[in-house]
Amino acid sequence: MQTRSLLTGIVIVLTAVCLVIGAATGHDDTGLPRPDLRRSGPTLNVVATLEHYGSIAKIIGGDRVKVSVIVKGSQNPHTVAVKPSYSVLFNKADLLVANGQLIELGWLDVALISARNARIQEGHPGFVNCSIGVDIIPYSADEIEGTPFFILNLGVGGTLKLGNHHYWLDPGNTAIIGRNIAEKLAEVDLPNAAYYRGNEEHYAMHLGEKLKEWDKLMEPFRGMQLVSYHRSWNYLLRRHGLKVFDYIEPKETLPPSAAYMASLVDRMKRSGIKVILAETYQNRSIIDEIARQTGAKALVLPSSVSEDQGIKTVFEFFDRIYAELVPALRAAKTSS
Ligand SMILES: [Zn+2]
Repeated sequence: MQTRSLLTGIVIVLTAVCLVIGAATGHDDTGLPRPDLRRSGPTLNVVATLEHYGSIAKIIGGDRVKVSVIVKGSQNPHTVAVKPSYSVLFNKADLLVANGQLIELGWLDVALISARNARIQEGHPGFVNCSIGVDIIPYSADEIEGTPFFILNLGVGGTLKLGNHHYWLDPGNTAIIGRNIAEKLAEVDLPNAAYYRGNEEHYAMHLGEKLKEWDKLMEPFRGMQLVSYHRSWNYLLRRHGLKVFDYIEPKETLPPSAAYMASLVDRMKRSGIKVILAETYQNRSIIDEIARQTGAKALVLPSSVSEDQGIKTVFEFFDRIYAELVPALRAAKTSS
């Protein structure tokens, strides 16, 4: 009898220990925070410039944050017109989550001036530049010189050397983004720092498993070349050892001339390039025309988490990308 009650006691103690550990980390096996572990204090207002970052902030912030997004995942992030409503959101924000690398150039600075909120200005604890710690791919001079982006940056006293701002499209960088957001949330809301770090650890663990799965899917296609509409898939392709043969845009955001398109089609045919990558917000008739003339498969992909397009998390986003990319690459490899 004594042994039995001793065993029962051990089971009770172990169960209690597990419950305490679960409560301290504040998450479960789904990768999302547990709503039953509500922390004290008012909810934080988080504003993300791009929907992709808003979705990551929701996972890290859990039930401690209310997340608003400025640019939807279905929108072109290069052409954002500033609206008075942005400043209203920024005025009430405790944390601003930005892509950085100048993708918000031309509208974020303007909206922040009118927002009158010193806490979320760049360099203050309430500003997250998600690109900190990312291995940024530099643009070469001829990729950007003369483009609206380059001229605008020079106009505000910016540097001639710029980096490619599409780093969120390497799923590995998603871990760095999550860490940057967690660190800043912990800084602006110190009493709940352990909660944010716990959510971030769990998210990073789940991401690590997904990365192994995605890397394995892409392994057979190392060394393959494809055409990209914009200079946006470079990070994803670098991760998996694929190469960009050329771009439909001759320079960052500039549309191709007829002569440039004809030369691209000719070079694609001679080199047997069978896949074109583009985003849903690019010019569809240009994509279709190049695909028709070359016989290449055009993949028009979402470029971000986008609730409008049925993609709620970064995990769903990359699952969707690879579900389209892998069969197209396999078909191109078999036909060559
Ligand atoms: Zn771009």
